[in-house]
Amino acid sequence: GPNVTAIPDNRHITLIGAGLAGAVLATLLVQRGWRVDVYEKRGDPRVQGYGGGRSINLALAERGRHALRLAGADDAVMKHAVMMRGRMVHFLDGRTDLQRYGRDDSEVIWSVHRGELNVVLLDIAERAGARLHFDRGLSNVDFDARIAMFTDPRDGSTHQVAFESLVGADGAGSALRSAMTKQVDLGERTESLGHSYKELEIPPARDGSFSIEPNALHIWPRGRYMCIALPNDERTFTVTLFLPNEGDPSFATVRTGHDARALFERDFADALPLIPDLEQDFERNPTGILATLYLDRWHLDGRAVLLGDAAHAMVPFHGQGMNCAFEDCVALAEQLDAQPDRAAAFAAFQADRLPNARAIQQMALENYLEMRDRVDDDDYLLQRALERELAQRHPDRFMPRYAMVTFHRIPYARAFERGRQQRDLLVDLTRGHASLDTLDWNVVDAAVRERLSPLPVDA
Ligand code: FAD
Repeated sequence: GPNVTAIPDNRHITLIGAGLAGAVLATLLVQRGWRVDVYEKRGDPRVQGYGGGRSINLALAERGRHALRLAGADDAVMKHAVMMRGRMVHFLDGRTDLQRYGRDDSEVIWSVHRGELNVVLLDIAERAGARLHFDRGLSNVDFDARIAMFTDPRDGSTHQVAFESLVGADGAGSALRSAMTKQVDLGERTESLGHSYKELEIPPARDGSFSIEPNALHIWPRGRYMCIALPNDERTFTVTLFLPNEGDPSFATVRTGHDARALFERDFADALPLIPDLEQDFERNPTGILATLYLDRWHLDGRAVLLGDAAHAMVPFHGQGMNCAFEDCVALAEQLDAQPDRAAAFAAFQADRLPNARAIQQMALENYLEMRDRVDDDDYLLQRALERELAQRHPDRFMPRYAMVTFHRIPYARAFERGRQQRDLLVDLTRGHASLDTLDWNVVDAAVRERLSPLPVDA
């Protein structure tokens, strides 16, 4: 039609979504000589403030930082990051215990504000030369004519754009995925967790400082449910309350701010005085749903491919959704460079990343149980103590799964498999023991050498 813009050339890519993955992928591709246009449904957050509505802060780990380094964005992002050394567990009786994530401060995670992160990444993408188009929500795709239709949410006007390939970085509710589904069966399956979340805020203390330990991820484990809190660089904390959708307590029984206060009085008594606007936060903030999205196919020949949450949304309990999405960006940029044929590049990308996405999705599900129910359990604590000991005695063979996922870039699927072998070993070695003092270390060391192969050198 007459209002179709620009016929692209063979080094051009059209990205859908300028969220976390979209901004990083745009930067990586521009750096490699691609021409990139990015279309984003929302307005420019740098102009009108961030209106994301989803989790306020996120844990950034090594996989994500590696991608940010390649994109030249790590320094800018880290200016806003707050170090988290471990889990600060808050027991029901008010006691607290810091469980370190790693060996020392070289093995930590970082809390970053989603809105600030997005703004920093968009600036970098634009400075690199990506063209960003805001207020353009993908509404439809004509894959035969290779024309994408966008709607401006402000006035409902529509805009057609010719494309060579579309990359869907448009999140869990991906419009590109819906359009692709009309062409090909992606094997889509969504599994709801049956639990949802609500965000609350801990403001700074009266003297302007953090009101609880800033360099930790706080957890209030309570069996079937839990609260967590992550620090923000403006000295607040974002608290997330996770509850089942049914049963008691659940989002079915805790409905009002008043109900929430009663729950906190009973189960999160030390957190309650820190959240002055509990009722308002609870009633004003949306209840977020949690699910895992599985696809069997991520691409439509060379015309479209999905990554990040659009391809494999996961529950947030390993803090890896964004980190995994950033790792996807590097993998896709590398495949596009390696393969002149886009269908082959997208297929290779899927073959590489899909098994890894499945593995981290599974580990994220397992971590929910661990966080809410096991961090205060004796068997678990003994296994963790042995795990730390083995990691010291056998650094070439034993690495805690959390460390493989969080501080290293061992493919998720390998971390998952090794994690399973290590867990079986820990269970076997601690069976019948109440402490490490009664273990026979000759037996332990022999079992490690027999049952665990050496770690990859790049770990
Ligand atoms: P998004 O960040 O969702 O970006 C998608 C973008 O596409 C958005 O800008 C959106 O406006 C845009 N868009 C949507 N539809 C259209 C359309 N039709 N047309 C154009 N644009 C469109 N991950 C971690 O690594 N660490 C954590 O600690 C962590 N904590 C989390 C806590 C919670 C409660 C939740 C829900 C998630 C958490 N995650 C975490 C996961 C992380 O938020 C996601 O994995 C990450 O945001 C995925 O990035 P993305 O770019 O794929 O999608």
